[in-house]
Amino acid sequence: MSRLECHQFPYNNDNYGVLLHDADTGQCACVDAGDAQATMDALSTKGWRLSHLLITHHHGAHTAGLSAIKAETGCMVIGPEPASSSIAGIDTYVGDGSEFEFAGRSVRVIHTPGHTKDMVNYYFADDALVFTGDTLFSMGCGRLFEGDAAMMLASIRKLKALPAETQVYCAHEYTATNARFALDVDPDNSALQARARQVTQLRSQGLPTVPSTLQMELDTNPFLRTDNAQLRQSLSMPDADEVAVFAELRERRNQY
Ligand SMILES: [Zn+2]
Repeated sequence: MSRLECHQFPYNNDNYGVLLHDADTGQCACVDAGDAQATMDALSTKGWRLSHLLITHHHGAHTAGLSAIKAETGCMVIGPEPASSSIAGIDTYVGDGSEFEFAGRSVRVIHTPGHTKDMVNYYFADDALVFTGDTLFSMGCGRLFEGDAAMMLASIRKLKALPAETQVYCAHEYTATNARFALDVDPDNSALQARARQVTQLRSQGLPTVPSTLQMELDTNPFLRTDNAQLRQSLSMPDADEVAVFAELRERRNQY
């Protein structure tokens, strides 16, 4: 089995879509469908034919192009079972622990509610890739529109349990702001300081900061470090439980 080729492309102001292509079978998947034109342009740039569309959650920035892409390509659409709001055009509903086959490998679905109740992430174990939608961002996490801190922390713990070398593809380029916030709450973290410098350099050249790796997130993302003594000290919450620390971080980030 050859490794999947990944082609990340921007759309809207700060969204990323990703095409995944398997050279052996010719199958191609796209993660999320916020902009049909951007997806079709990316497919034509690469010369790939879309076979699967994988939807993470119901927000328009991830679904607005779904029906147009499906009509144009005839792809099979996989997406979350409805929770707060349903998504038109899904052929196969998936939930926590679902597995499906794509290009000869198994894809595992991880339900990560918090940002929305329907959020699912897609884990490709053979290729060490995870698509985290608006749950886990590089050095940040999604806003809690439909869930609470306890729900989101439980979701993030599922992602933390993946192998550290897993490449993390998130759906938005929020990394520069996330890095500034992270330095505010975790100022003495040397891995974070180094990553923030790297992000400044990448963005000044107009380059994406996504994907990162889970190891980088474990080292630098405050929302994955709610058990870290140094971070807790800087929040003056040395003995608080992790949900309280997470809620405090999320509230500060909302106000940031
Ligand atoms: Zn969203």
